[in-house]
Amino acid sequence: MLIMLLTVLAASHMCSRPVRVRFAPSPTGYLHIGGLRTALYNYLLARKHAGTFVLRIEDTDRERYVEDAETDITAALEWAGLSYDEGPTVGGDVGPYYQSARKELYQQYVQQLLDSGHAYYAFDTPETLDARREEAEHGFSYNAATRGEMENSLTLPDEEVTRRIAHGDPYVVRMKVAPESSIRFEDTVRGTVSFASEKVDDQVLLKSDGMPTYHLANVVDDHLMAITHVIRGEEWLPSTPKHILLYRYFGWEPPAFAHLPLILSPEGGKLSKRDAEALGIPVSVSDYAEAGYEPEALLNFLALLGWNPGTEEEVFSLEELAEAFSLDRVGSSGVQFDMDKLRWFNEQHLRALDLGTFTARVAAHADAHGLDDVDKDYLQQVCALMHERVSFAHEVFTESRYFFEAPTSYDQKGVKKRWKDDAPALLSAYAEALEALDTFTEATAEQTLRDIADAHGCGAGRIIHPTRLALSGVTFGPSLFAMMEVLGRATCVERMRTAIEELG
Ligand code: GLU
Repeated sequence: MLIMLLTVLAASHMCSRPVRVRFAPSPTGYLHIGGLRTALYNYLLARKHAGTFVLRIEDTDRERYVEDAETDITAALEWAGLSYDEGPTVGGDVGPYYQSARKELYQQYVQQLLDSGHAYYAFDTPETLDARREEAEHGFSYNAATRGEMENSLTLPDEEVTRRIAHGDPYVVRMKVAPESSIRFEDTVRGTVSFASEKVDDQVLLKSDGMPTYHLANVVDDHLMAITHVIRGEEWLPSTPKHILLYRYFGWEPPAFAHLPLILSPEGGKLSKRDAEALGIPVSVSDYAEAGYEPEALLNFLALLGWNPGTEEEVFSLEELAEAFSLDRVGSSGVQFDMDKLRWFNEQHLRALDLGTFTARVAAHADAHGLDDVDKDYLQQVCALMHERVSFAHEVFTESRYFFEAPTSYDQKGVKKRWKDDAPALLSAYAEALEALDTFTEATAEQTLRDIADAHGCGAGRIIHPTRLALSGVTFGPSLFAMMEVLGRATCVERMRTAIEELG
């Protein structure tokens, strides 16, 4: 009974803290597909619990800073529809949301660790450290076993430390990792994770340029921004023991951690940028946008790359994902990237759009296909016929180019199979009969064709196939008569007569 009561209390305590999550990219490169998945899972958890999704730019590494990376990252989030509640431009109560603007804050917190004996100054030059690394057989680690041999505030007299700092000698501040058997924490995805503490070195917290390292800034900000769940890629798992120690040394409650599984190549192994490129898998989110993937499809695909709803259901809108999402259904083993599956999601999401929205998505590609002045109503009629037949919106302009210009060639195999000796005579009769019609519609075009087939004592297919070839140049496509009504009588007749001339 008591245990039950405690569980209930613990659960209600958890619930009472409003969910606050963050996506914390470093502007060292463009947003890649793995980054978008991390952003998505954070977004979903926030929306599921009516919480807050924070964007924080971790820009303390000036050497790896890439000028337009932040613009690319925010543009990609916007394209995907992952809106954040706090962050650069939108603001919030716990900003600034750029780490480069929080420098003083980190220095203040480093001082706290120095004062409590959990950090110390280290004056070792890069040359000394390099020499130690070269000497060491199994790699050099700055830790409890070695720090006594180095130049730092633990080994030097106090006056000397003060003198060096006053003199402006370069120094870093290191975390003083106390030897203990192991550092354990609960990962929501992986369960209990433990690291041997000798594996954790005296991490640099403040660099010689006065900038914090990722570890310090990340922990200080997650605490000050009241982050409840840290959801990030598996590559950050080895950093987590350092973060756990920092929370402990500061006396703060750590957030819940969830490390997402690796994204694997279709050929197995971690999907590196190089592998992806070799396999024709785009890496940057902007490449997916450019290739014509619908944002909803990419998000749906990424959601299922690591999480499962526990049912057979696969196609979800972003709202549906937010409703269904939970961290306890995120798996820990790597997940294979599958371009065919992504394509399938793209088809599903395109089909789920209403005709007007689908047409607008198609229209967005018109310019790129040299069709900037295409009539909206006409395009919508074409889209109605092609909606179920394309995997990408832009395919309306490539797969069914014949709606926008006369075919410039005829499929060779199709001609051989479908364009029989009687085709010119039959098409010529059909064209004439179409011209004589009072009203030209899908239904009258069909009736006329069947009447002519009867009159000539042949099957309708004998006219249907060559007509399709004449109108489109190919042997497949939407219903012939529906297509004819969209193309219009004059175009149909003209193309039939051109084919008679060209194919004889
Ligand atoms: N700035 C880190 C990155 O670029 C953030 C990692 C984390 O979420 O803690 O991914």
